[in-house]
Amino acid sequence: MLKAEAAARALMPRYGVGEIRVPALERIQLYQRSTGETSDVVEKQMYTFSDRDEAETVVALRPEGTPGVVRAYIEGGLDRSDPEQRFFYSGPMFRRERPQKGRYRQFYQFGVEVFGRADAACDAELLIMIDDYCKSLGLPARMEINSIGDPTCRPAFREALVKWGREHWNELCADCHKRIDRNPLRLLDCKIDAKLAESAPSSLDYLCPDCRAHFDTVRGTLDSVGVRFQVNPRLVRGLDYYTRTAFEIMAEGLGAQSTIVAGGRYDGLVEAMGGAAVPGIGFAIGLERVALALEAANLVNGTVIDAVVIAMGDAAIRQSALIAHRLRAAGLAVEMTSALRKLKASLSRANKIGARFAVIIGEDELARGVVQLRDLAQSTQREVAVGEVAAAIAEAGRN
Ligand code: ATP
Ligand code: MG
Repeated sequence: MLKAEAAARALMPRYGVGEIRVPALERIQLYQRSTGETSDVVEKQMYTFSDRDEAETVVALRPEGTPGVVRAYIEGGLDRSDPEQRFFYSGPMFRRERPQKGRYRQFYQFGVEVFGRADAACDAELLIMIDDYCKSLGLPARMEINSIGDPTCRPAFREALVKWGREHWNELCADCHKRIDRNPLRLLDCKIDAKLAESAPSSLDYLCPDCRAHFDTVRGTLDSVGVRFQVNPRLVRGLDYYTRTAFEIMAEGLGAQSTIVAGGRYDGLVEAMGGAAVPGIGFAIGLERVALALEAANLVNGTVIDAVVIAMGDAAIRQSALIAHRLRAAGLAVEMTSALRKLKASLSRANKIGARFAVIIGEDELARGVVQLRDLAQSTQREVAVGEVAAAIAEAGRN
């Protein structure tokens, strides 16, 4: 979890994205206005309650980050004075869910929002950022993208979906019966009727020339930098404000909850929330799911330790502290341990936490001013002078 967040934070300066913090408690109207009152999140998933003030204001725990960021953007007047902005946020979100693996009532999202950019290069840049994120974690992931059109072409697609939904009425679940009139795009998003949805109309067949050109540029740009993706014409976003590019990133080992990142373009949102007509695009990473995926892929789910320094007996503790201190000063991550336990136990601990090296100091080494440097990945060991340990680790780490 921490690693999942740290990797995302580390990436932000390289893409010129600054942090924003928004409240976890808001009036319910913020979410009704932004997500549209028909979305599942607003309808069923929000934690809401009445305040004890005279008006009995209804407040909600935030189910997602985007509306709060948009509100801050508009209240700060940036939509008119300086519309092109990039923000990231990180924090807990709350939804009524049936808790299960990868699905919680309080969970953590790391999200990025870019305002004032309508061009396809911006969509591509965010997808490249996500690819970068997965690569920096060493996490194998699959990227799926789609275009769901814009106000020019979506009405016809919407109509086709309604028609399809009516034709298959008897096969659809109760939720989908409601979706047909309220938000037919979400027929494609249904977890119960997923199989049936494969026969539904595809948004790509309905794109207007502008939307098609936009999508082509996104794909071409990803191709040119070698970001791998698949086009999934059934992919839509669950919230009502999305336009054009929609995407999801999936990882292995999460069972039904395989989506670790989801996002898309939302060109109508800022205006719908009372701001200027400014385009936007964003995504959110589900940090618990990334942590679970890292665990499933056997990638160390915590801090990466370069070396464990093991003192064999009390006499070697001072020397081991000094060496650990020097290694840290050289920028290495180090854990210190004394083999009050057996050496074997200390080494298996070093292996368990994924350390590449063990630095072993016994009485004999202490007397001679050396250490045993064991490369745990290669199962080799050699003697190194105390002053040379950092350099020897750096040297071996390069191979
Ligand atoms: P799902 O279809 O799994 O319910 P969603 O469409 O509701 O996801 P978004 O609102 O797009 O999800 O949120 C973005 C990401 O946040 C998801 O892809 C997922 O990784 C994570 N996420 C969403 N809901 C939860 C939850 N209840 N518990 C943990 N992570 C979640
Ligand atoms: Mg959901």
